[in-house]
Amino acid sequence: MFRNFKLVPNVIFGRGCFSQLDEIIEKQRQNNDAWVVFVTDDVFRGKTLEKRIPLHEKDLVLWVNVDDEPKTKYVDELTLKVKAYRSSFPCAVIGIGGGSSMDLAKSISLMLTNEGSSTLYQGWDLIKNPAVCHMAVPTLSGTGAEVSRTAVLTGPEKKLGLNSDYTVFDQVVLDPELIKNVPKDQHFYTGMDCYIHCIESLEGTYLNEFSRSYGEKSLELCRQVFMDDHPDKDDKLMMASFFGGMSIAYSQVGACHALSYGLSYVLGTHHGIGCCIVFDYLDEFYPAGVKEFRAMMKKCKIELPRELVKNIEEEQIEKMITVALGLDPLWENCLGKDWKSIMTREKARSLFIQI
Ligand code: NAD
Ligand code: ZN
Repeated sequence: MFRNFKLVPNVIFGRGCFSQLDEIIEKQRQNNDAWVVFVTDDVFRGKTLEKRIPLHEKDLVLWVNVDDEPKTKYVDELTLKVKAYRSSFPCAVIGIGGGSSMDLAKSISLMLTNEGSSTLYQGWDLIKNPAVCHMAVPTLSGTGAEVSRTAVLTGPEKKLGLNSDYTVFDQVVLDPELIKNVPKDQHFYTGMDCYIHCIESLEGTYLNEFSRSYGEKSLELCRQVFMDDHPDKDDKLMMASFFGGMSIAYSQVGACHALSYGLSYVLGTHHGIGCCIVFDYLDEFYPAGVKEFRAMMKKCKIELPRELVKNIEEEQIEKMITVALGLDPLWENCLGKDWKSIMTREKARSLFIQI
């Protein structure tokens, strides 16, 4: 069966295009009561970007904190806040921030129209009703959350996204000026998320021409950003993220993402840095990619934390292994149909204990 997946229908790209957001949203404001919620990373509180949010009288700026990556409980609380703000639904939900804020915006827009807790919808195609119109304004590039059909959430039982066609944004606003002040380490970690998406997609058994076309271009852009320090690197990274997301949409990620999910489930390690920490130990699976990753790390003067797993309880390591090995498609993409005979619990343990 071939996947028939939904794409973001509207994309605007260019330095300064954030200024057109008001005009873009205007189409959704169909009556006098129409209002908009701006789900905004609280890192921008009191910053210039706050003043540039095209706020109308009835609109709400919902500041969100992403010190922890999005949890179902947080999504449920935020959705209640939005519901309590006015008796009608907002006409649009705009996510402004990195992958976490974009996923929160996606989740809120879905949970406004779907009854009950977000935990009920962690999985594939469990969402019943279309979301409220939702748009993304990335301020950090690499995750590909701006194009994907998932909103990754950690729930009481699992870390699993709200995967559905309804999750896909209705509009994406790609303004490279918004990523220029990201702190150096964060810029690298999230950028490497994109680099790793490309390697895992291009080296995977699920590869096809659709994924290859996007993956190769994205990889080329990553090299210009992280090896050449290109003067247009913000434009390039923003497109690399978009294309990297398109590449994995029609293939899959691989070993690094599977293991990093285990790590982050148990230790709360954030996605970008978690992928970097794990990737550094995966020479065996992605030799050329890991070599280049190390060169990029050197060039960008990045030091990764070490010995994260060394002193943790046995029970926690077991949990990490269970979470990582539960991601069958990622392993199948990396190692082929016979992956279970290669990536045994013992093999996964031997990788984790080095980290
Ligand atoms: P993030 O959104 O978690 O943000 C990381 C840090 O950067 C935060 O402290 C944030 O406040 C800060 N930040 C964001 N923009 C900034 C800016 N312009 N200037 C200064 N600081 C800024 O980071 P991320 O790596 O973009 O996203 C990671 C999240 O995305 C995880 O929750 C992960 O699960 C999710 N994710 C989702 C998908 C998807 O397809 N939906 C894919 C990959 C990852
Ligand atoms: Zn990723």
